Amino acid sequence: MTSSKFLKVKCKCSNEQIIFNKATTQIKCLNCDNVLSKPTGGKAEILAEVIESYE
Ligand SMILES: [Zn+2]
Repeated sequence: MTSSKFLKVKCKCSNEQIIFNKATTQIKCLNCDNVLSKPTGGKAEILAEVIESYE
C-alpha cells in the first residue's frame, strides 16, 4: 500500500472531485452533498468511484 495520495473520484451525480485519501474529515460532493469519503482510523474510506489517483 502506498501512503498519502490524491484520488479523483466520480460521484453518482457525475461530479468529479479530487480528494485526499487520508482525509480525517468526511468529504462531501460539492454538487449534491453525497458523502464521498469518510475517515476510518487513519485512512479514508472512499465511498465514490475512483477514476484516477495521483502520488
Ligand atoms: Zn454528487
